[in-house]
Amino acid sequence: MAERNDSPVEGELFYICFPCVRVRRLGTKIEFVYVSSEESTFTCRRCQRSCKFVLQAVKVPPHHRLSHLCSECNQRFSTPSDLFNHSYGHSGDWPFRCRLCYEGFAMNSEFERHVARRETVRNLRCNECCREFKAKICPRTYTDMRRLQHLYCRNCCNVENRDIIEYVSP
Ligand SMILES: [Zn+2]
Ligand SMILES: [Zn+2]
Ligand SMILES: [Zn+2]
Ligand SMILES: [Zn+2]
Repeated sequence: MAERNDSPVEGELFYICFPCVRVRRLGTKIEFVYVSSEESTFTCRRCQRSCKFVLQAVKVPPHHRLSHLCSECNQRFSTPSDLFNHSYGHSGDWPFRCRLCYEGFAMNSEFERHVARRETVRNLRCNECCREFKAKICPRTYTDMRRLQHLYCRNCCNVENRDIIEYVSP
């Protein structure tokens, strides 16, 4: 593939939005920093859109060891896509989100695994009447003690819990 004229020069700093990072390989000698702002927006070099969450990119000299930095939590990542997937956790702007437990996913494959795991029928115990019942719930609900303490059988369940649980037996 031929280099396009939007390729940066060394040391130059520019912003690129998440969809554009996804579709375009920028070459290997570009270092990214995740940046976000509530007050202002950043203009993507490629599509010219204004975004609140972008990757700030800078072309670095050859032999420079790349590490892509998250400016929110100072974690470093060895690839831009690792940083990119991590940054969804800060922006909350996940490409895939479970409509039941609201957990977000960077990749469709992760989301599909989540949905498949939800299909497992589990034996649960009601925190109100202590009776056992069978239901389907999202994986995180099953490992999160706080959420688990708020699981009730169909009879004891209140309205707000009803959407995270799918009863298989009474
Ligand atoms: Zn863009
Ligand atoms: Zn971070
Ligand atoms: Zn879920
Ligand atoms: Zn109960």
